Amino acid sequence: MRLALGLVAALALPLAACNKGPASPTLATEGVTDAMITSQPQGEWLTYGGTYDEQRFSPLTQVNDGNVGELGLAWSHDLDTARGQEATPLMHDGVLYVSTAWSKVLAFDAKTGALKWSYDPQVPRETLVRACCDAVNRGVALYGNKLYVGTLDGRLVALDQASGKEVWSKVVVPDQVNYSITGAPRIAKGMVLIGSGGAEYKARGYLAAYDAQTGEEVWKFHTVPGNPEDGFENDAMKKAAETWTGEWWKLGGGGTVWDSITYDPTTNLVLFGTGNAEPWNPAVSGREGDSLYTSSVVAVDADTGEYRWHFQETPEDRWDFDSDAQITIADLQIDGKQRHVALHAPKNGYFYVLDAKTGAFISAGSFVPQNWTTGIDPKTGRPTINPEARYEQTGKPFISMPGAGGAHSWQPMSFSPKTGLVYIPANIAAFPYMAAKDFQPSDIGFQTGLDGAAVAMPANKEARAGALAATTGALIAWDPVAQKPAWTVPQTSPWNGGTLATAGNLVFQGDATGNFNAYSADSGKQLWSFPVQTGVIAAPMTYEVDGEQYVAILVGWGGVWDIATGVLAHKGGATKNISRLLVFKLGGTAKLAEAPRSADRVLDPPPFTGTPEQVAAGAATYGRYCSVCHGDAAVAGGVNPDLRHSPVLGKADTFKAIVIDGALSQGGGNGMVSFATAIKPEQAEDVRQYVIKRANEDKALGDK
Ligand code: CA
Repeated sequence: MRLALGLVAALALPLAACNKGPASPTLATEGVTDAMITSQPQGEWLTYGGTYDEQRFSPLTQVNDGNVGELGLAWSHDLDTARGQEATPLMHDGVLYVSTAWSKVLAFDAKTGALKWSYDPQVPRETLVRACCDAVNRGVALYGNKLYVGTLDGRLVALDQASGKEVWSKVVVPDQVNYSITGAPRIAKGMVLIGSGGAEYKARGYLAAYDAQTGEEVWKFHTVPGNPEDGFENDAMKKAAETWTGEWWKLGGGGTVWDSITYDPTTNLVLFGTGNAEPWNPAVSGREGDSLYTSSVVAVDADTGEYRWHFQETPEDRWDFDSDAQITIADLQIDGKQRHVALHAPKNGYFYVLDAKTGAFISAGSFVPQNWTTGIDPKTGRPTINPEARYEQTGKPFISMPGAGGAHSWQPMSFSPKTGLVYIPANIAAFPYMAAKDFQPSDIGFQTGLDGAAVAMPANKEARAGALAATTGALIAWDPVAQKPAWTVPQTSPWNGGTLATAGNLVFQGDATGNFNAYSADSGKQLWSFPVQTGVIAAPMTYEVDGEQYVAILVGWGGVWDIATGVLAHKGGATKNISRLLVFKLGGTAKLAEAPRSADRVLDPPPFTGTPEQVAAGAATYGRYCSVCHGDAAVAGGVNPDLRHSPVLGKADTFKAIVIDGALSQGGGNGMVSFATAIKPEQAEDVRQYVIKRANEDKALGDK
């Protein structure tokens, strides 16, 4: 009998261990604790979204709608990374922590601006070719006495908060070819949560939790099923596979969790947003159906990572409608009932209110003009897709509003419990989708299956003017209960900064024209503005040290809108990247150094000597491989080189040495790698002739 019991115990033990996974992570008892992240101790900002609910609302009122006009610069710090700055700083115990482009981390005395330490993970510059959207990083996480940052090349790194010294570092992405990390890690119950980007490459999306002390993986939830022949990890994957056809797993499937991760202590769920289905053009992989769980909000159990619910915002995604925008938790009075809800404004242009515990659809409203649906089912929340939007079926281009840049992307929105309004940095911008014919996947670059050449901006004044006029932005104060705007501030350009709401009846936002602004939270009246000399895409935060309130923001234009959208990137006019951390307080008197003057550029390309065939072939190759970094139709934004101005444009051999032989990837490099696996030498020459042709046409249009 004793033997039998022993046998049972011996059999049961490994089974139990197997079911349980790694030991429960240890909760922090000193430094930054779970309770502190929930409650936001006086004046601190301890996690990316301010608190677990990601409302980005500060209870501080010293700076308010009555005195914000006296806000002045307290201190600033020039950054050494002249690329897009997307991070929100954190403040704990008088120290301001911030990540910058290239995943670097800096720590400052929050009062004086004195630099305490800096950390550089030495991300290889050639990582850029598999990072869709510039070398950006959106922030760090604090827990216990450690700080966590995800690096562009796919590592999760733990640093000592006091010294900035590395405690552990671990490659967490499945491979360093298709995956990258730009998002801010989040904390939940002794774990660090992070996913990845890569749904324009060949990534299979996931969210994973790591032990904050050791970096050991605690759980992982895939967002799309893998090859059915390998078996499914769980029932959720089995169910999801029923919504895919073709051989989707060969190109990864997408659904990457590159930004929003929200731990809700009230429900013990982790809510996260998933990215587009890959490839964008479903015909490439024979994809039909909803493609779960792409372009969705998904909830898993915080302890185990087990599936709880999902709500798909964009079924059968073919428009790059990532649902990765931040998810905000709030308690709202809806139809006479108190509801615990998730608020979401993804790229597809609809604002969703979901039950945070069950995922049940409550309501949706479109916050920008849209044409990809003919409406939303008021009961289920499912969109009715405009048949013309299925561009791979019609064989015609579809100019979608919103477009691939999204009606609202990662730029964080904020929610004020005082006004009940959500402040959305919205883009009003279309995108032309056209399916590529006979698309073949390659080993490098975007794998979207679109024809980038057919829909490139023509060298035509009227076409340009029309597109520029239709491309704007707005700061929208959205009433999530009524599903309509309370007020709107129209903006010149899309791709403005994230927002911060405060109990001082203020909303702060930087913009694409190079200004940092404050508005009245209840009326939208502009109350203050400060010229920052460069476009702003990051979100501000606020903190208090020694009884004084500060407002901090990273400035520095960049990101996907900068690098990919050609002439449209210049709509705001402040595209020169001047990367800085700026910190303001009432009565601040510090001054910014004068903006470095741009050298007067003159567009002076060599004469065109190619053939129409070369231009046509070059346009196709450029559209497939070059435009995502050097800009639509060879017009660059602010952070990557404008090839029309390249000094090597007239030198066929040097141009080929860069594109084919990878001449610029040597010696530290600037991010340009060899495209020899995808582009033949004669195709590089086609690209050169195409750029020369476009440069001459643009010169004739008056471009400089
Ligand atoms: Ca995407």
